[in-house]
Amino acid sequence: MGIVIDKSLCIGCGTCLGACGSGALEMTDEGFAAVNDQCVMCGMCVDACPVGAIELKKDVGDNDISAYHGIWVFAQQSEGEILPVAFELLGKGRELADSLGEALTAVCFGSNVKNPEKLIHAGADSVLLADDASLAFPMDLPYADLLTNLIHERKPAIVLYGATAFGRSMAPRVAATVGTGLTADCTILEIDEETKLLRQTRPAFGGNLMATIICPNTRPQMATVCLGVMPALEPNTARTGNIERLQIKPQQFDAVKLLNTISEITGDNIIDYDILVVAGKGVGSKENMKIVKRLAELLGGNYGVSRPLVDAGWAEYQHQIGQTGCSVSPKLLISVGVSGAIQHLSGIGGAQTVVAVNTDPDAPIFGVADYAIVGDCIEFMQEMIAQLEEK
Ligand SMILES: Cc1cc2nc3c(=O)[nH]c(=O)nc-3n(C[C@H](O)[C@H](O)[C@H](O)COP(=O)(O)OP(=O)(O)OC[C@H]3O[C@@H](n4cnc5c(N)ncnc54)[C@H](O)[C@@H]3O)c2cc1C
Repeated sequence: MGIVIDKSLCIGCGTCLGACGSGALEMTDEGFAAVNDQCVMCGMCVDACPVGAIELKKDVGDNDISAYHGIWVFAQQSEGEILPVAFELLGKGRELADSLGEALTAVCFGSNVKNPEKLIHAGADSVLLADDASLAFPMDLPYADLLTNLIHERKPAIVLYGATAFGRSMAPRVAATVGTGLTADCTILEIDEETKLLRQTRPAFGGNLMATIICPNTRPQMATVCLGVMPALEPNTARTGNIERLQIKPQQFDAVKLLNTISEITGDNIIDYDILVVAGKGVGSKENMKIVKRLAELLGGNYGVSRPLVDAGWAEYQHQIGQTGCSVSPKLLISVGVSGAIQHLSGIGGAQTVVAVNTDPDAPIFGVADYAIVGDCIEFMQEMIAQLEEK
């Protein structure tokens, strides 16, 4: 991709030099415009040229988009266990595949992967499974190499990845190698009825607006998807499908050597809970987090927090909900002392019932609440705890 200046058309008027905001155009001794390495390919010069001598050439390579079909979900595993996000992606993938009338394939790499048929039960039509000792630990280079080769060979139209730390690291490598786009941290995916393109929606500009991104010129269309946002389907053990075991030639990648893995996060994952008590700055102090935890415990749930509480050291990061934390979809979410900033709300969109307690009747959290309680959240929690303890 780049700016190309047709010398046979260029009249040396210099209009393009004035239009360029990057200082990327110069006039040669021969009297033609020429582009230098400051070019950011914004295309301003193309529009400015009065004689149509400048073109922004897009590198489409052999990417004949009509040859690409089907939806792939990259099903990440850890120690042979398929991660929950794979099932969430398959739920959405099934919906997308049905609206396109195309097949849904789960792609899983690992060693001794347990129960790959669960991917079929979760909605996949088929599974591509590379099971080899060299793939035991998710590693960017071998995984991206393998997936890239598969994409070149089988040409899927859409590839979805979980926005796990690994997915966020591997997917851009694949996108760059394949020469296609990638939308990170999507919260909404849908098929455009007219164009059949994948509409990939994610928070943008610090979460202050939602941007919908399409990838019309290259394939596959690729997105990483936030965890806990897309509901998995109920497993259907009657579903059948082909599990294709791929023969792979293990490659040697010397740039990175895995010496050991250490699990840093201990304890439960809040995305697995049906009931969450979510605390914001309105709880007032670290000491008051004991009240939040006690209520969560009595309800048989767990607790989440807004980002300032993590920043203040009142809670661990794995409890943070929102754009830069995790997305949750409990049956019941009790929000206490949370204002409801958009960056927070993007993480609770999947909650079925939201009860919000805030002293400010105009707090934005009430805009997404099913039950709004204007009042002191500490009093509210203490009263609930007292009643639950009486039982
Ligand atoms: C790029 C970016 C990413 C971000 N990511 C996240 C994220 O992932 N998650 C996240 O949460 N935030 C995130 N934020 C921060 C976000 O913008 C807000 O600042 C944050 O969510 C506010 O947290 P809060 O609601 O706890 O605090 P505040 O906005 O200070 O709200 C406190 C609320 O408590 C109420 N209150 C006070 N006392 C009481 C009481 N006694 N009883 C009941 N209510 C009371 C107040 O009326 C107020 O509404 C991000 C910001 C940016 C710019």
